[in-house]
Amino acid sequence: TIGMIVIDSNKNVAAGTSTNGARHKIPGRVGDSPIPGSGAYCDNTVGAASATGDGDVMMRFLPALLAVEFLRANMTPSNAGEAALRRIVPHYPDFVGAVIVANITGDYGAACHGMLEFPFSVYTELTGNRVERVKCF
Ligand code: ASP
Repeated sequence: TIGMIVIDSNKNVAAGTSTNGARHKIPGRVGDSPIPGSGAYCDNTVGAASATGDGDVMMRFLPALLAVEFLRANMTPSNAGEAALRRIVPHYPDFVGAVIVANITGDYGAACHGMLEFPFSVYTELTGNRVERVKCF
């Protein structure tokens, strides 16, 4: 999945995903990526999140919606992403996935599970483009 969150100069927030889907998927499979709340979710008053990983698991837990709701409850983006994925792991301990999260003030973070670390790109006018990494829990 390529997941993206954009905040424009008027503080409009957008989130989206683009994906090949899962390997060996059955014909007609609709994964999590195009499903609002699962692949991505956005609220202009709060922020946005976008997820990648095992979509057949993630679409049962709506991690992108959860992460935005945790932002609404004033969690940091990193903590919101981790809290969203932690809803999944007790049910699917081998779950592999990640979520990127940003709030409307421009704070951002990511969380991941089932791999060592997760790289993601950040672009701002001040810093340009750079790759950051988070360690997975
Ligand atoms: N989430 C996608 C899917 O399950 C796969 C991916 O993250 O690339 O369709």
